[in-house]
Amino acid sequence: MSFAVGVYRPPSEGGSASLLLRVTENCPWNKCTFCEMYKGHPFVYRSVKDIKKDIDTVKAMVEEIEEVSRKIGQAGKINREVLRALLSVDPYLNENQCFSNVFSWMYYGGRTAFLQDANSMIMRPPEFIEVLTHLRKTLPGLNRVTSYTRSKTLAQRKLEELTAIRQAGLDRIHVGLETGDDEILRLVRKGVTSAEQIEGGKKAMAAGFQLSEYWMPDLGGRERWRQHAENTARVLNEINPHYIRSRPFVPRQGTEIFDDYASGRLHISSPHERLQELQVMIENLNVTSHVCFDHNMNSWTNRQGGLLFSLDYEGYKFPEEKPRVLELIREGLTVDESRHIDIKELIALGSL
Ligand code: SF4
Repeated sequence: MSFAVGVYRPPSEGGSASLLLRVTENCPWNKCTFCEMYKGHPFVYRSVKDIKKDIDTVKAMVEEIEEVSRKIGQAGKINREVLRALLSVDPYLNENQCFSNVFSWMYYGGRTAFLQDANSMIMRPPEFIEVLTHLRKTLPGLNRVTSYTRSKTLAQRKLEELTAIRQAGLDRIHVGLETGDDEILRLVRKGVTSAEQIEGGKKAMAAGFQLSEYWMPDLGGRERWRQHAENTARVLNEINPHYIRSRPFVPRQGTEIFDDYASGRLHISSPHERLQELQVMIENLNVTSHVCFDHNMNSWTNRQGGLLFSLDYEGYKFPEEKPRVLELIREGLTVDESRHIDIKELIALGSL
């Protein structure tokens, strides 16, 4: 038994505790100059029939695993005894990605699902609603269903459509904002304007989604750091999402922006310069969001040599903890630059 599982999901989505279901394949835009995730892989709009079949397959796997649990006297509980019993019959099950995904998800309580890939909201709303309704009906134990989507698509959807999708069972969406600066958005070919980002973000909030917006410190490089910081704060202030998550920019080999970096057209900031950009962004940020540094590229060092920011998925609650974050940034600026991890050195070492 198998179903479609993709590669990517946000780290905050419960690790192996989330069921992964691929509702579309790859990215329908696939033009951002900094992104290598789906390059070379064409977008596939999956049929509702195929996705529903995948959901039914998951349900059948759940029933089989529970049946084994009952047979060995575990009363339907999912634990290591059940895994041992399953592997004693088929030792290769562990290498089956679908089985591993379903078993881990059940082991951790079977509560959350993440719908892959890059922009689930691209599905025609009635079809997306049909999929969500089927998912919720077939796996009623789910208490959170989440997905990635693009701001542009959110802006294109009517509020009533987004509300209906929310009511059909999609709880949380993750959006790659990257920057709120229109010049940088054009340069990185994000395919959206800051006005559309605001429109899409506000609509998502009005529809009742829990919204995570991801921004990319240093995406404008030394050349455009201030406009990047100020305009990103401006857009996020308008949206006021539940979560703002920092994903510092890393030029990845094989992307167009890497060529800009390698040929000297784009200059990456030093660790202190990145902190100064962050300081301007945070100073300008007036939100009630959780501001998160939940990725290992937020790798600045504190005075004791540990991580400057918590990697916690809930981050720092604003406005209450805004002074704390600004204090941490000031602390990071007093730490000698050589003690911070420098992205340029990691790139030169070939570690990224
Ligand atoms: S929209 Fe997202 S997944 Fe698609 S190319 Fe841009 S960053 Fe990559």
